Amino acid sequence: MNVLKFIGLFGFFYCLTSLSCKQTNSENVVPPISKESIVVPPSRFGFRLDSFHITENKIQRDQFLSNILGDVGISGQLIHAIAEKSKDIFNVRKLRYSKPYALVYSDTCKAPDYFVYQPDVKSYVTFELKDSLDIYVTEKPVYTQVEFFEGVLDSAHTSLWSAMEPTGVRDALIAKMEEALGWTVDFYYVHRGDEFKAIYEKEFVEGAPIGVGKLVGAYFKTLGVDYYAVLYENEKYEGFYDLEGRPMIRKFLKSPVQYSRISSRYNPSRFHPVLKRRRAHRGTDYAAPHGTPIRAVADGTVTKASYTKGNGNYVKLRHDKVYQTQYLHMSKFGSGIQPGIRVRQGQTIGYVGSTGLATGPHVCFRFWKNGKQIDHLRLNLPPPKPMDESELPAFYMKRDSIMSLFEQYGAVLDSTLLSLNHNKEENKLID
Ligand SMILES: [Zn+2]
Repeated sequence: MNVLKFIGLFGFFYCLTSLSCKQTNSENVVPPISKESIVVPPSRFGFRLDSFHITENKIQRDQFLSNILGDVGISGQLIHAIAEKSKDIFNVRKLRYSKPYALVYSDTCKAPDYFVYQPDVKSYVTFELKDSLDIYVTEKPVYTQVEFFEGVLDSAHTSLWSAMEPTGVRDALIAKMEEALGWTVDFYYVHRGDEFKAIYEKEFVEGAPIGVGKLVGAYFKTLGVDYYAVLYENEKYEGFYDLEGRPMIRKFLKSPVQYSRISSRYNPSRFHPVLKRRRAHRGTDYAAPHGTPIRAVADGTVTKASYTKGNGNYVKLRHDKVYQTQYLHMSKFGSGIQPGIRVRQGQTIGYVGSTGLATGPHVCFRFWKNGKQIDHLRLNLPPPKPMDESELPAFYMKRDSIMSLFEQYGAVLDSTLLSLNHNKEENKLID
């Protein structure tokens, strides 16, 4: 019961002030509040259904604009003109298998007047098939609803993946949680009893959920310590901040591989699994599937991209006068990675492998400070500076509104649990 409480049903249609609905046209679509409020639009793709006949279909294999339009009586000359004209707006070669399209007729006895293609759920492209051959892209209105997710890691749920139900939102939400908190918390080195909470926007188009929008607030409690990240956006600021207004973003990423697990920690007297003898392990091993991208933990310059018998393929980066990092046992280097090249934080510099002295696919990650190897997991860097003082009052207001959402949702959950427990008691009495 305590593992996962998903209260999407309690989520009400809600737009935070600075996160208002992206409504880009006035099509008559109503957000999904209740059955009664769903209004069937009297138009489709902006065409009134009482004046136009619309047939909808999906792109078949090996079907091109020329096949589709040729079959309904559009001349090859016209198709060519459309293809030419559309180049700058939407390349007709980008029609993809299984994507929906529509033909719009003002007179079903004649050729269609419009071709409508939907490259994604959020937009469609309209091609006029006569006169000016107008081509335009329409963004559909996206509605958002704030929802809440929370869970506790226990013996049966040892990672965020297993603690979240396998839904469409799970992977997107985990990625965003990592973006918000991954600088401070290592999600892949979690403990029983760790808790997480997320307040996020679910996006809807035409009444159907299409996925996770923005993560508004994130919480993780590990080993009894609370970590919060709140989203703050305006013209000057954009990103996740802690409760004091300090950016969550740090000089160094917590780990060089996303979705990995620490298989061996920094240990000055480790028993080496390949050499079968004690040898200092001056790195942290992250096990991950062969081919998983390895990312630079900070901006820097490649000083080495080479091979040795022990290290296998490895890359070494210099970040500044003080810090260097090194990544071992790669299956191959990232594209263009060679000495002298500048890399950005998060850039793929290679791929997980088991070249050199390695028992299985992993990255041995080494951290150097002033020329000495250290345990980066014990490295305490000073926290970054808060945002400008003049910005703080506005930030605190935003922060407080997000924190009160955490409280509200928490209260809804607590009362739900209370009533569940209460029912249990009653059942006992009846028994
Ligand atoms: Zn290692």
